[in-house]
Amino acid sequence: MRVVDLFDQVRDGWAQRVIRRLARGESFQEVLNRYFDLMRQAISGGDPIGLNEILDEWAAVQTQAGHEHGEASLLPILGQTLLSLHDATKEHLGSEEAVELIGAILPLHTHAVQYTSQRDVEISGQHIADELEQARAALERLDASKSGFISVAAHELRTPLTLLEGYSSMLSDILQAEDQVRERVEIMLKGIENGIHRLGEIIDDMVDVSLIDNDMLNLTYQPVWIHQLLGIVRQEIDKTIAERSLNLTIEEFPGHDEMTFGDPERLYQAIWNVLSNAVKYTPDGGAITVSGRRLPGFVEMAVQDSGIGISPQDQLNIFEKFGQLGDVSLHSSGKTKYKGSGPGLGLPIAKGIIEAHGGAIWVESEGYDEVACPGSTFHILLPIRKESPDDKVNQLFKPMSKGGSAPGVRTYEEVKEAIAKETSWPKG
Ligand code: ADP
Repeated sequence: MRVVDLFDQVRDGWAQRVIRRLARGESFQEVLNRYFDLMRQAISGGDPIGLNEILDEWAAVQTQAGHEHGEASLLPILGQTLLSLHDATKEHLGSEEAVELIGAILPLHTHAVQYTSQRDVEISGQHIADELEQARAALERLDASKSGFISVAAHELRTPLTLLEGYSSMLSDILQAEDQVRERVEIMLKGIENGIHRLGEIIDDMVDVSLIDNDMLNLTYQPVWIHQLLGIVRQEIDKTIAERSLNLTIEEFPGHDEMTFGDPERLYQAIWNVLSNAVKYTPDGGAITVSGRRLPGFVEMAVQDSGIGISPQDQLNIFEKFGQLGDVSLHSSGKTKYKGSGPGLGLPIAKGIIEAHGGAIWVESEGYDEVACPGSTFHILLPIRKESPDDKVNQLFKPMSKGGSAPGVRTYEEVKEAIAKETSWPKG
């Protein structure tokens, strides 16, 4: 009998054994079938090169599926195929026929193994090269943001320091002159105070970013009302709004006066960071609107400005720390000056705070254009919490049973009122 006929005799049984051994699905069966077709041709033609095509295809599928499981190579499959051939010939052929068929297939199998090993080496080499390239690119990015950070930090910290230096040397000159000292000293002391305050803010921001990075932001849950936080931000920012002829509208949107549990200091900080950015990146005379809506279980606030906008590629970067450092020459120690970029920590901090509350923050903008000013809208989604995650806080704010409060225990309304007046609230 011809070897090809012997092959045909065992083929189905062989395929079934391979599939059983390897427990693979339909797509594997298809590839195996084609492998056997080409093997049949190679047996009759005597040339194993025809197998290369299917081995390439097979290896590619295997590499894709296998890298995650650490079994990218085709070699173990070829090994199992050979073992199954041995079993199949035992079942379907006599011993002489079996030797004849195995003798014809063995050189083909050897070729397949050699070819596959060579490919494996090439693929692993490529894989290692890709990983190295990725690591190099990551290092390059890290290096760029590190040097970006150093130049921004140096600039941000130097500005208030220069102020402090200048004012203190002027102070000592003045104290020597002793003429009309008081008024001038007061001006200089104010300057020194501003410098110290700004330096303190930058250091606080750096500490906050590191707390957020290390999952160490501890929230102190208390009853919070969004309209109250917005009211405090408004008080704080009103002077700048007037100076820059901006038009700030805070709408009474559904949910704005609803009580939720959150950390008022931190939420204030997040809202301030977003709103003060709207002021910074909107030219004089522009408009800023705070609106929002109530969603099931959430309240969504939208801070829309008519400013310079944000390019699509920066819309994600700006929430990463030092992700958008901008032009260092534009950095300024002023917090609300037009386009006065800061150290690039405000939005990462806002994101960290909002996410720690179980919320989300994102931005929409048609793009960056300082002339057309397409504007940006920052969305802040906050869950409405009727209870604090901290049980002790719940006990404190638990509504009293009918018939008034027990001695020494304040009612919910009393606590609500007291909290609203609390000194621990962010100050305007
Ligand atoms: P910064 O201290 O630089 O303001 P932020 O983290 O607050 O840092 O903001 C990061 C960057 O995002 C800013 O430098 C600015 O380029 C961009 N950005 C933030 N808010 C706005 C906005 N409302 N309009 C345009 N660009 C904005």
